[in-house]
Amino acid sequence: MDDYALTLNAGSSSLKFCVFRRPVQESWEIAARGQIEGIGTSPRLSAKGTKGEILADNRLDAAVRDGHAAIDALASWLRSQWGGARVLGVGHRVVHGGPRHERPVIVNQKILKELQELIPLAPLHQPYNLAAIEAVFEQLPDVPQVACFDTSFHRGHARVAELIPLPADICKAGLQRYGFHGLSYEFISSLLPEVAPEIAHGRVIVAHLGSGASLCALRDGKSVESTMSFTALDGLCMGTRPGRLDPGVVLYLFQTLGMSAKEVEAILYRRSGLVGISGISNDMRDLLGRSEPEAGLAVDYFVYRVTQEIGALAAVLGGLDGLVFTAGIGENSAEIRSRICEASSWLGVELDSEANKNREPRISTPRSKVSVWVIPTNEELMIARHTGSLLRLTGAKRVPSSAQNRSGNAEVVRS
Ligand code: AMP
Repeated sequence: MDDYALTLNAGSSSLKFCVFRRPVQESWEIAARGQIEGIGTSPRLSAKGTKGEILADNRLDAAVRDGHAAIDALASWLRSQWGGARVLGVGHRVVHGGPRHERPVIVNQKILKELQELIPLAPLHQPYNLAAIEAVFEQLPDVPQVACFDTSFHRGHARVAELIPLPADICKAGLQRYGFHGLSYEFISSLLPEVAPEIAHGRVIVAHLGSGASLCALRDGKSVESTMSFTALDGLCMGTRPGRLDPGVVLYLFQTLGMSAKEVEAILYRRSGLVGISGISNDMRDLLGRSEPEAGLAVDYFVYRVTQEIGALAAVLGGLDGLVFTAGIGENSAEIRSRICEASSWLGVELDSEANKNREPRISTPRSKVSVWVIPTNEELMIARHTGSLLRLTGAKRVPSSAQNRSGNAEVVRS
């Protein structure tokens, strides 16, 4: 009988999944990749198979109102496709690992409880990530589950890069800079030796620009700094989050405007950033297509902050050899890449505009001092690698062998 493993990336309104299959005596391969979108509004399940063929594209019952119901719906679809399959493990993206978790872990009830305590530090993600783990415990109680943290890749930063300069006794309990999007950065770092060997061991900034956005400074493939810190609110301007903010602003919201903690949380996590500035949308593609000055201002601020932080991270690295764009905006918007590169020309960035339009992997001119790249990220694949190695699913020579990146290209999985 074939073996199966699953990866899940559960968000507030979507559940992304990958199904990995290992036929007897063979290597792991990706059997399906898909998502349930519109959870709570108009839920829809879509999935593609190994060659990009459509396996599912259908509306779900409106009763799929939360993550738990989404897991139930996914489980019944999986049963309809692969009934009776042996599932060896389920890997999850979990945004915050807190001070205790420096690497992926097999989740038990004690660890789940610890991770629940971190919900206030990542309210947009952590509750949904953990609800998926709980739902799988109910559906498949005997299957081991692995939590893969977005914070892990950044552990090992220098003390000064981790520090929050508040009184030491307050910081003792884990108040420190963590950094996020670690699964994405780890994946990009693992690809550099193959895709961009000339910078793989150098000083590189990776720009993960999506609904959530951050930068990571890599030296020799390891994270040395990130624009996100204690929570995923810090750093760049995002779809609904402001990024870097004078802490006095938060005091003002409490003291002068008399807001409650819940109201402040809603402003910081859901009503700021691109949607706050524009009053139109949190979606970069929408904003780029609009003519209102507020939409233009939101885009200008986004580019301004990315450029500013590229300068700051280049200073931390003591120079720059490579710049990599990834995630929704980074992979798909030639305009945003071009504007960021133009504003970073002082660092020695020279864009090849044709290569940029064609989204070639290398989008800088041959004489550019800093080479610039577009590399699609694949957090699910990183989760699969961690899950495979932690649960020892690889076995002798039985290494996961193929999967797809976000843009659907076949790609080798290393564990
Ligand atoms: P992610 O969170 O990585 O899925 O990225 C979502 C963000 O990518 C949204 O702001 C989208 O508008 C943006 N995005 C996707 N495609 C494009 C595009 N062609 N041009 C500009 N932004 C895009």
